[in-house]
Amino acid sequence: MNESSNQIDDDLLNGVRNGSSAAWDELVSQFHGRLLSFARRRLKQNADVEDAVQETFLSLVKSLESFRGDASLETWLFQLLRRRIADAHRRAGRNPHVQLCLSDSQPDSETPGSTSQPPTDQSASWYVHNEEQRVQDQSALLQAVTAATERLKTERRFRDLKTFDLLFFAHRKNQAIAEELGLEETAVAVLKHRFIQRVSRQLESPSQDNTESGRSSELLTEVWRDGRPSCPKRTTLGKYVLGTLSDDWDDFVTFHVERTGCEFCAANLEDLSTEINTPADDSDQLLRGRILESTVGFLNHRRDQ
Ligand SMILES: [Zn+2]
Repeated sequence: MNESSNQIDDDLLNGVRNGSSAAWDELVSQFHGRLLSFARRRLKQNADVEDAVQETFLSLVKSLESFRGDASLETWLFQLLRRRIADAHRRAGRNPHVQLCLSDSQPDSETPGSTSQPPTDQSASWYVHNEEQRVQDQSALLQAVTAATERLKTERRFRDLKTFDLLFFAHRKNQAIAEELGLEETAVAVLKHRFIQRVSRQLESPSQDNTESGRSSELLTEVWRDGRPSCPKRTTLGKYVLGTLSDDWDDFVTFHVERTGCEFCAANLEDLSTEINTPADDSDQLLRGRILESTVGFLNHRRDQ
């Protein structure tokens, strides 16, 4: 399922890179609903919401060459959108932090892994290497974490997945997690230790820093929020909305959205419910038209290159 959705992403992106307006139309249609839902949860003014989404698609066209496929196209778009929302907050004189899950009080780094921009003050604190090294390490760590979480999903070890969601995504303390999941605190500590060991082993050159627990926890939080390894696929969320998931998956999705409080999946669910329950309305069509209109110039420019 993962491979096929990546394949669809690749096909779409290749079409767009070749300047195909049909591929661009398809890409905008596919993703604008979930981006709008996410932006609406973070911005009050409708005009700001539409601007942020429009600018996100524009950023995508402009940064096509730097998209490296470490995470999915959807995750990349969400990262670009987070930056636009932070910009809007900043313009309004507010704290630019974009909340991504429950109990999320960490400063948002707003630094998608694939850009060449220097890290912000906040993200610089978790990596002292130069930016290139940071991006490489983050990419290697994301691959290791994705492989580990995919295995947990295949083996349906949802209790472990919930623990890691609370540890690394929601950044909760061992004791609070133990209470929430009805585990012994030592069991949480052991799960955490083993997970960090496992993903560190898969790094090409695990440094002492990476296996040291406090440091690893910070790194994993960064990767968890940027790469979203625990998020269920869109097809799984679709089945959740239709009520056709198996009980254990259904329970995990509820937990991930309500207890971990994943804002990305909440936006997807909102968009899927709208898609399933109501036909696209006129304002939706108008906005899609505006997005296409504002970006087509860049697309034509690509085609002429
Ligand atoms: Zn999620």
